[in-house]
Amino acid sequence: MRSIATRPSSDWSEGSGRSIGRVKIYDTSTRGLVELPEPPGPIRMYFCGPTVYQRIHVGNARPYILSMWLRRWLADRGYDVTLVENITDINDKIYDAARAEGTPSIELAERATRWYVEDTDLLELGRPDVEPLVTETMPEIVGLIEELVEADLAYQAQGDVYFRVSGFSDYGCLSGQRPEEVQDQEPNAAKEDRRDFALWKGRKDDEDACWPSPWGDGRPGWHIECSAMAEKFLGGAFEIHGGGLDLVFPHHENELAQSRGVGRSFAKIWMHNGLLQLTGEKMSKSLGNIATLRDVVDQWGREAVLLYFMTGLWRNPIDFSQDAMSAAAAQVESFRNALRSAGTGSSAVEASAVSEAVWRPFVEALDDDFNTAEALAILHGWRTAGEYDLLRRALEIFGLASLAVGDAAPAELVALAEAREDARAAKDFERADSLRNEIERCGWDVRDGAHGFELVRRR
Ligand SMILES: [Zn+2]
Repeated sequence: MRSIATRPSSDWSEGSGRSIGRVKIYDTSTRGLVELPEPPGPIRMYFCGPTVYQRIHVGNARPYILSMWLRRWLADRGYDVTLVENITDINDKIYDAARAEGTPSIELAERATRWYVEDTDLLELGRPDVEPLVTETMPEIVGLIEELVEADLAYQAQGDVYFRVSGFSDYGCLSGQRPEEVQDQEPNAAKEDRRDFALWKGRKDDEDACWPSPWGDGRPGWHIECSAMAEKFLGGAFEIHGGGLDLVFPHHENELAQSRGVGRSFAKIWMHNGLLQLTGEKMSKSLGNIATLRDVVDQWGREAVLLYFMTGLWRNPIDFSQDAMSAAAAQVESFRNALRSAGTGSSAVEASAVSEAVWRPFVEALDDDFNTAEALAILHGWRTAGEYDLLRRALEIFGLASLAVGDAAPAELVALAEAREDARAAKDFERADSLRNEIERCGWDVRDGAHGFELVRRR
């Protein structure tokens, strides 16, 4: 891990109109586009990761994919990028799930952390620079709560410690909630104010794991972990904070209050991705309309999953359906077929070999609020125009370089295909058909061309 110096975020300007050459991102707090500093930045990004207690659903993959793509794009644009994405391994949901299945909560969280890494690895986008766990960040969490207590922004009540919302006058600035409208997030008669939220929760009898603190054994509230982790790895000021739209309130509002309350400037841009919708409803575990990322990748292939997410602007909701996945898979095939018929070409295209004038609209689309849908349309234009070198370079940014690479079939399938050739030559079409079926059952198609057969992996 690199150590990162805290640097005041200077060289900022509010975006207005379309100025070529600066990357702009929509920011929830200002409700508008904000320009990034000139490359190399740095651009320090913190994204809220999953709470780990079961296999993640395909909707959980969106912030992960968005952050990994954005890191690749900004690196391509010459930025020095650091991405931190936490894993919440202490949480009420974990205690509940562990109790229900009779497993120690720490054990369940460790297992589900491995699942999360395994499942997102299926997408072959790499890992964030740092993926901190709450269980590894306890000293920083306790230290930050102590600072809040000293600043009179937190108080003890019956073994818990609460943030004093009335002490932070900007509360509500991110979500736009007015103070009198703020709902009670954690009902407890011992609180001074119904809006106050827990920083530390005293140990409960039915919780099997706890940590020591100056306020007694217990565990952190949900929001304090991200304030502590972001600061630990990125410093007190950083450029981009991401996460799902459902985190704006209370999670991010509370993170902001905690960190700014003790004088950190915290995130400059708040980047909230839209949620996945299944038949018009938000997709979440509680609704039961679950398609795990693993299942969706198994069914459609990782390239179709990535392409599917390209079709929507990151901050809009995106509809998930068999039709949408089928359309994404068809687009994947159109790129694969075009690149296959174009030949292997050079896999690593040098920037100097690229026609910058043709490349430019693609840059403009991504620089303008990371509009992957517009970029995808440009890619299809290049596909039909035969701009294959540009296409390969652009697909690589989205983890789709594999579309330009033919798969080598296993030797036993080649043997089956050869046996099929022989059967066809002998006019034994029944045997030829049965061999074709056998090849298809293994997940491959056999195509007949002028120069013999070709084996193509089914997607
Ligand atoms: Zn968070």
